[in-house]
Amino acid sequence: MKNPILRNITRLVGRAIGDFGLIQEGDRILVALSGGKDSWTLLYALRALQRKAPVRFDLAAVTVHPGPKEFDCRPLEDRLLREGIPHTRLNGNLVKIINENLTEGTNPCSFCSRLRRGILYSYASSEGWHKIALGHHRDDFIETLLLNLFFNASIKGMTPHLLADDGKNRVIRPLVYVSEDMTRSFARTTEVPILGCFCSYQGMSGTRRQWIKERLAQMEKEIPGVKSSILHSMRRIHHRHLLSDGRAI
Ligand code: SF4
Repeated sequence: MKNPILRNITRLVGRAIGDFGLIQEGDRILVALSGGKDSWTLLYALRALQRKAPVRFDLAAVTVHPGPKEFDCRPLEDRLLREGIPHTRLNGNLVKIINENLTEGTNPCSFCSRLRRGILYSYASSEGWHKIALGHHRDDFIETLLLNLFFNASIKGMTPHLLADDGKNRVIRPLVYVSEDMTRSFARTTEVPILGCFCSYQGMSGTRRQWIKERLAQMEKEIPGVKSSILHSMRRIHHRHLLSDGRAI
């Protein structure tokens, strides 16, 4: 593998696959490719692993078109064609649905993400894909944990391996150990075509998340390794030292 950034990312993805049992022999894995830096990174890392991993698995990409005509999938499709990666485009008309159904106090991008997930689940189960791979990276895991802790009074994050509420679809997040800086570097060095949403809600993905991001960046300067410590704390949960329901444990 010539690209040293991809080599590092692939090593971390391989470790996550082993630690959390994300991929098994014969799996059919669908990568949700939004056209952003993170989903491109995930797709390339899984493809690199597919070529050398001892387990065999199928891989394809799927993109949910959000609706606006400015969202042009062609650069993405051209690239995938050149790389020989199978790809499907699903038309979601997400922005129209959001405009018509958004309720006060709901973040449009969170709503959008639930809609996308529903479309992906239906497609994956109807076409026999076992797992949907999402491009959430290490910083997303940490930020989500802190967002819930600070603003929702709950200790809740993301998991790298989730059985969806429908009991059928499985979601995997193999970038759990990969930092956002790495996905940014990967996208820059490989010049993959980055697609924006071209929607009026762009930039509304959350001022709270941005606030957390800035605090974490500052903390990392003062306490090097703090992000890694927070991530690994999610595997070392001491229930006896949290508030119980009243019974001694
Ligand atoms: S900006 Fe938000 S609401 Fe609009 S398409 Fe993107 S994720 Fe969906």
